[in-house]
Amino acid sequence: MEIGVIGGGLAGLTAAYELAKKGHQVLVFERQPYLGGQASTFEVEGTLLERYYHHIFTGDEDMIGLMEELGLAERMQWLASKVGFFHEGQIYDFVTPFDLLRFEPMSFPQRIRAGLVTLYLQRFGDWRTLEDFTAQEWMRRYAGQQGYDVIFAPLLRAKFGQYADQVTMAWLWSKFKDRVGSRSRGLAREVLGYMDGSFQHFIDALAEGITSAGGEILPDAPVERVVVEGDRVQVVQAGDTWSFDKVIATVPSFVFLDIVPDLPEQYADQLRQVDYQTSLCLVLKMSRSLSHIYWLNISDPSFPFVGAIEHTNLIPPEQYNGKRILYLTQYVSRTDPLYSASAEELLMHYLPSLQKINQDFEVDWVEDSWLYREDAAQPVITCGYSRRIPSHETPLEGLYLANTAQIYPQDRGMNYSVRLGRVISDVVDK
Ligand SMILES: Cc1cc2nc3c(=O)[nH]c(=O)nc-3n(C[C@H](O)[C@H](O)[C@H](O)COP(=O)(O)OP(=O)(O)OC[C@H]3O[C@@H](n4cnc5c(N)ncnc54)[C@H](O)[C@@H]3O)c2cc1C
Repeated sequence: MEIGVIGGGLAGLTAAYELAKKGHQVLVFERQPYLGGQASTFEVEGTLLERYYHHIFTGDEDMIGLMEELGLAERMQWLASKVGFFHEGQIYDFVTPFDLLRFEPMSFPQRIRAGLVTLYLQRFGDWRTLEDFTAQEWMRRYAGQQGYDVIFAPLLRAKFGQYADQVTMAWLWSKFKDRVGSRSRGLAREVLGYMDGSFQHFIDALAEGITSAGGEILPDAPVERVVVEGDRVQVVQAGDTWSFDKVIATVPSFVFLDIVPDLPEQYADQLRQVDYQTSLCLVLKMSRSLSHIYWLNISDPSFPFVGAIEHTNLIPPEQYNGKRILYLTQYVSRTDPLYSASAEELLMHYLPSLQKINQDFEVDWVEDSWLYREDAAQPVITCGYSRRIPSHETPLEGLYLANTAQIYPQDRGMNYSVRLGRVISDVVDK
């Protein structure tokens, strides 16, 4: 079959790779001049670095399996994670169960209660019974008001902003499962995976796998329109029309709605029901380190950013000529006034908060900064989500959709986009 794939992120590349291996003639259209989508990289101090902070968990089996198949297993590094909480002017380590027991911002009985709830969720298998509760109501009831306010509300606000109180408990459950899946064997300590030289090696190996199986990839090729005519699916790009037996779109739902004008109303309506949060990610190259923590959750509603991820507390700074790499992350809606801020404006806006984390912090520690903005960073996963997920097979014959809004109850992530790519390749090939 002749198959078009729209989107050269991990879902699109994996689908194209699987289909090309099976002998189909595959062509990938990618809007950007580079591949990898949300996992793509840029260069810092001669080394490639993800535009958005990235690591994987030991339980990310689809991603790890594909890396092994592509001969990249040797490049994976499993490193002790250093997670912390910033609360009322202080950093608390938050890696092991003992850290929770020592977590002073909560009363001792509340710490025990939060610990028991965590253990219960990590072992509890059926998300279906949770999906009609909001995480807010479930956590308040079982982990207690203080546990909710200090630990869980900041985590929800971090991802979902104004939608935090609408998120389903099934989504939060999946986060506990991911984390328990990333404990090193026999230890209570969490390890996180990063690829030596960045995940760009994975993206490059997938692209190489596609082309060596006879597929083609077109970067810098934003698809403008998709039309189904008879038993052919036409893709319009830069004035040219390409004709396929089948087309897979891996773009966000709002892009799909724009490029497929003839979508039947019921399916289009289903797509419109999912909102996405935009990620604003300010990357700082610094001469000094902000803290000793890799992943610092901010439990302080007065802070504009919700996480400070110091990449060089996971990966040695020597990889970047001794420079420190800090990501400051915030999720906003597209109507937020900060949405269109520049890197310099955001840095000045964040400065007082950075000085609360480290009193010595000075703006001249920052040697360079980059701001990345991803509109489809986080689909908003509300109660009853499973009943609203649009099918991969669209009502238009030969046209398929596989995007992050169809990943559930797991949180979106590279592992699940790889899985999505495999699932959609099977659907299309049947
Ligand atoms: C801030 C942030 C942090 C993250 N951290 C992690 C992490 O630590 N670990 C982890 O596993 N995952 C993480 N992720 C998630 C992970 O990167 C994504 O889930 C995954 O890469 C999504 O892949 P995808 O192919 O499904 O979608 P995308 O990467 O969004 O790919 C879609 C592609 O379609 C292209 N496209 C859009 N419109 C068109 C068009 N009209 N024509 C042609 N192409 C088009 C886009 O340019 C893009 O390349 C993070 C994401 C963000 C935003």
